[in-house]
Order: sequence, then structure tokens, then C-alpha cells
Amino acid sequence: MLRPLFILLTSIAGFFAQAQAQSKLPSTQPQEFRVTLLGTGSPTPSMTRFGPGVLIQAGGKHLLIDSGRGTTQRIWQLGIKLGLIDAVFITHLHSDHVVGLPDLWLTGWLEPNYAQRNGPFVLYGPKGTQQLMNGLEQAYEWDIKARIADQGLKPENIKSVVTEVNKGVVYKKDRLTVTAIEVDHGDLLKPAFGYRIDYDNRSVTISGDTRYSENLIKHAMGSNLIIHQVAAAKEALLKIPAIKVILDHHTSPEEAGTLFSKVKPQLAVFYHFVLLAGPGIPPVTEKEVFELARKTYSGPMVIGEDLMTFQIEKDKVIQK
Ligand SMILES: [Zn+2]
Ligand SMILES: [Zn+2]
Repeated sequence: MLRPLFILLTSIAGFFAQAQAQSKLPSTQPQEFRVTLLGTGSPTPSMTRFGPGVLIQAGGKHLLIDSGRGTTQRIWQLGIKLGLIDAVFITHLHSDHVVGLPDLWLTGWLEPNYAQRNGPFVLYGPKGTQQLMNGLEQAYEWDIKARIADQGLKPENIKSVVTEVNKGVVYKKDRLTVTAIEVDHGDLLKPAFGYRIDYDNRSVTISGDTRYSENLIKHAMGSNLIIHQVAAAKEALLKIPAIKVILDHHTSPEEAGTLFSKVKPQLAVFYHFVLLAGPGIPPVTEKEVFELARKTYSGPMVIGEDLMTFQIEKDKVIQK
């Protein structure tokens, strides 16, 4: 007798709990330009560093750069409804950057107050993004049909609108602009983009995955905030071919420091830590990444953490 009652009580509690975000930032003010790291990790299934994802709040819009593992949880952890994401911009199609897409797309369609998307799922990304969404629509066809027939969910809110991008301005709404920057992730890994977001004479540049890129430097010039990926491994691992391949597709701490020195942002932030380990050889730590980057850059710099927020003002970037 007790057990069914317990189950009933816990499921009621569960129903209410699901509708509550874990923490809330105050909502943005007009003119505010806010950037939040939703995930700063790599493919490693970490509980503290989720997959790559950066939330931009500016000009009344919510833009998401990449949707790695756990971005959906992080968005609601901020108290932001999943349905409020106006557009997602994909840097490239490596799985760690898109594995969170079906969750955001499908869960964002549901009726509870954490979701409630009213309109299509809007996605920008490189060539291949449309094919990815076509595949997801096929993979989740049963769920989509069932929820329309059974729950009466609106078909128009599960539709996706995909724009495959080339370098240059890809999104413009009033004073909010997103520019795709061609980066160099490797000869077999094209196309790959970084994104620069400009709003009201302020800007942030997000590297995506890239080797040291002069083109990224050129287009990041004048950005208040730079968010850059980083990869490293201990000396003993550098000869292992599999490690070499991965490091060759990314930027080292020293190279990132050189890039920061050239761009001179008001703040440089590391995210998407690709810190490789081997048998008996631990990964380079974040502290060591910081020290290595200090060899080539002496300006303001932060090791990014999930849910770190930055407010971009005219003359400074405030970390919250
Ligand atoms: Zn990649
Ligand atoms: Zn990556």
C-alpha cells in the first residue's frame, strides 16, 4: 500500500520539479549583450564540462553557437525556455558540436513551460547541415508522428528551417549581425567556421575548431571578447599518431596566446578544452594551459567554465 503512494508522491514531485529551472540569471536589459558558456568540454563525457555551446543574448534575441552534449540542460539551468532560442549556428559537423541538436529540437517542441517553441527550429550551418536535419527527421519520425496524433502538438513547430552558410554575414536583425569566418580545422575537415557576433558596436568572436588561423585573427580584430578552443597533450604523447592527428586540427595554448596578442581583445576566454591523456600519462591541466598561453600573451585571459557569463559593454567585458 505504501509503495504505490510513494510512487505517486514522487511522480507528482517530479512533475513540478521538471518545470523549475535550477538557477536563474536576471533577464537581459535592452542594450545588454550577454555571452554564456553552456559547455566548455570535448567528446570526453565529463559531468563538469558539457559539449561545446555558447549562448548569445543581444538585441532581444537568443542565439546558440553549436549544440554539443548537454546544451539543452544548460539553457534551462539558466531559466531560459528552450523555445526561446531564435537560431542555432553550427561551426562544423563534428559530432561533439551537434550531438545536442536533436535534444534541443525535439524537447524544445514539447508543451511544458521549459520548452514551448512557437515556430520552426532555425538552424544555420555549413554544407551538410540540411542533410543532418533530414536524417534526424527520419530517425525521429515515429516520435514526431506520435506526438502530433496523440498529444496534438503542432506540426509547424517541429519543422526546421536550415540555411547552409558560406563565409560572410549570415544573419542580420536590426543591429545584430552574425558573420561566418572560415577557419582551418584540417584539410579533410572542411568547411569549418568560427562566428563573430556584432551588436551595437560591440562584438564577440568564437573560434569553433581550428588550427592557428590568420583568417580568424583578421576577422576577430576589434572584438571585445574572444572565445577560443585549445588542445594540448604532455610531451610523452606527442609521437602517438592518433594524438598527433587531433592536435594538428586544433590550436595550442601558445598559439592561442599569439592570436590573443595580435587581436588584443578586452578579454580572452578558453573553451572547448581538448586535453588528451594516455596510459599512465595524465592530461595537461587547465592551469597549465593558462601558464603556456602566458608565454605568448600578457593581457586579460580566463579559463572558461560551464555557465560562466560575460557582459560586453562599450569599453569593457564584465565576467559574472
Ligand atoms: Zn572538430
Ligand atoms: Zn570539437
